[in-house]
Amino acid sequence: MKKERERLVVKFNNGRGAILCSGCRMILKIGSEFTPEETQYIRGELNHLPPQYCEQCNNELLKEHPTT
Ligand SMILES: [Zn+2]
Repeated sequence: MKKERERLVVKFNNGRGAILCSGCRMILKIGSEFTPEETQYIRGELNHLPPQYCEQCNNELLKEHPTT
């Protein structure tokens, strides 16, 4: 089963895309800051990108799932 929170979360504001934190839905990036891949994903040309998290959620994730 795929978990919804394990993919990049985007939303649209007046036709412009924004990338949201996959944890708390805070806006992380707006149009001019996107990488080419992120732009493709928002246009629907790319099916999957890994989620992005704000600093706070990142810290929470590291506490839950220590990497090393
Ligand atoms: Zn967050």
